Amino acid sequence: MSVLIVAEHLRGQLRPITLELVTAARDLEGPVSVAVIAQDPSAFADGINVEGVDDILAVQVDQAEFENDVYQQAVEQLVAERKPDVVLLGFTVNSMGFAPALAAKLGLGFASDVFAIEEAEGGIVVQRAFYGSKVHAEIEFPEHERVVLLLRPTAWAPAEGDGSAVVEQVSVSIAGSRARHLDFVEVATGDVDITTADFLLSIGRGIGDKENVSQFEELADKMGATLSVSRPLVDQGWMPNSRQVGQSGKTVKPKVYLALGISGAVQHLAGMKTSGTIIAVNTDPEAAIFNVAHYGAVADLFEVAEELEKLY
Ligand SMILES: Cc1cc2nc3c(=O)[nH]c(=O)nc-3n(C[C@H](O)[C@H](O)[C@H](O)COP(=O)(O)OP(=O)(O)OC[C@H]3O[C@@H](n4cnc5c(N)ncnc54)[C@H](O)[C@@H]3O)c2cc1C
Repeated sequence: MSVLIVAEHLRGQLRPITLELVTAARDLEGPVSVAVIAQDPSAFADGINVEGVDDILAVQVDQAEFENDVYQQAVEQLVAERKPDVVLLGFTVNSMGFAPALAAKLGLGFASDVFAIEEAEGGIVVQRAFYGSKVHAEIEFPEHERVVLLLRPTAWAPAEGDGSAVVEQVSVSIAGSRARHLDFVEVATGDVDITTADFLLSIGRGIGDKENVSQFEELADKMGATLSVSRPLVDQGWMPNSRQVGQSGKTVKPKVYLALGISGAVQHLAGMKTSGTIIAVNTDPEAAIFNVAHYGAVADLFEVAEELEKLY
């Protein structure tokens, strides 16, 4: 099956998802092309030239950074001209902005947040999660149905090994962009850097109320842990964004990750599932966090916190 990958880059750096897409593409055993849409695509060619990539399509555009309309128009032209069987993109904020529209416009099959792909009877079957990872579903695309797939970051290892890809300059016509990238605004780093902590005590919506946050701040202090949180606590303004673990927060890899009252939505898991030892406390035995936890307790987090307070 022929595969077209759309590379992602940010501020001059290739994003890791690009090489993860190459690993997924290699399993489909067809020619693999990687499109780099950039002001200076050649700057990324070396990083993309890994084993398994047959050609790099250098698409020069005026925009230095990602813009939805530019990517949509460029990829649309590449897909219409080259007719790949499968278009692979990362399940990222960038791709989510234009890939569904691309699939709809060209009448292609579509699946997002895909974490497994296999060929079956000429077509392909992909797996994705629903309902905060409580259910995994298989989606079948029959033979000859061309598809756009957004793959979950970190689900495949990044491709390695020297490649011998041919670089081809490809021109596309961009009619304009309704929104322009102006600048990056740095997020305040906040009081702590949760990405370097060895021990994270992480709390989720299960703590119930803003008034309860201080109890866990104190507990974390006593235990020598750093407090981190799931997104709802940030959305509600209970904790600063710098403490958020997950897809739209920080990716962490502490030696110990103790999750209290966190359900384990895929966006949360994306930021912590490679932690050394994951311990989860949740009243719901079906909570998805238990799928990644090394140790788990189906228990009330306040009772567990009380016991921990006695120990420290
Ligand atoms: C584009 C996008 C990006 C996102 N990015 C992130 C991200 O970066 N990080 C993130 O965390 N989320 C992110 N989310 C949100 C994510 O989908 C979930 O909504 C969120 O992770 C849920 O947080 P939670 O587990 O704290 O809350 P819930 O899902 O509400 O889970 C609370 C859990 O607490 C348990 N509980 C309740 N009471 C108790 C008790 N007394 N004792 C023990 N357990 C109890 C419940 O059983 C439940 O499992 C994102 C969503 C989208 C769409």
